[in-house]
Amino acid sequence: MTHQEQFSVATRGHGDMHDLTARVAEAVKASGVRTGTVTVFNVGSTAAIGTIEFEPGLERDLPAILDNLIPPSRGYGHEQAWHDGNGHSHLQATLLGPSLAVPIADGKLMLGTWQQIVHLECDVRGRQRTVVVTVVGD
Ligand code: ZN
Repeated sequence: MTHQEQFSVATRGHGDMHDLTARVAEAVKASGVRTGTVTVFNVGSTAAIGTIEFEPGLERDLPAILDNLIPPSRGYGHEQAWHDGNGHSHLQATLLGPSLAVPIADGKLMLGTWQQIVHLECDVRGRQRTVVVTVVGD
């Protein structure tokens, strides 16, 4: 069977991280799927979905390391075309990826104890994000 739902995440701008684990677990429960996969997808090209231990240290570290790898800069081709200050946002979001697939066993997410599903805002301003959760299985 397939079950799909979506919800909104209000972000505060670059580096804002949200723990989606409880919302995704609710969707899996609502689906009735016991064995399968859940896909979590951010709609839009300047935010990302992934897993991390959701704690204050890593909540700071991940955006900081992304800024080291792909710093804010006016030098990107995207800036030269659009002048909107978020070339690094697009590149950071693409590097992390817009989606995540998590296996479901016994009706539960197969995540480690210190492994949460997170949404990371990479854009330079707060956004109202749409996250789509699709549960597929039996
Ligand atoms: Zn842009």
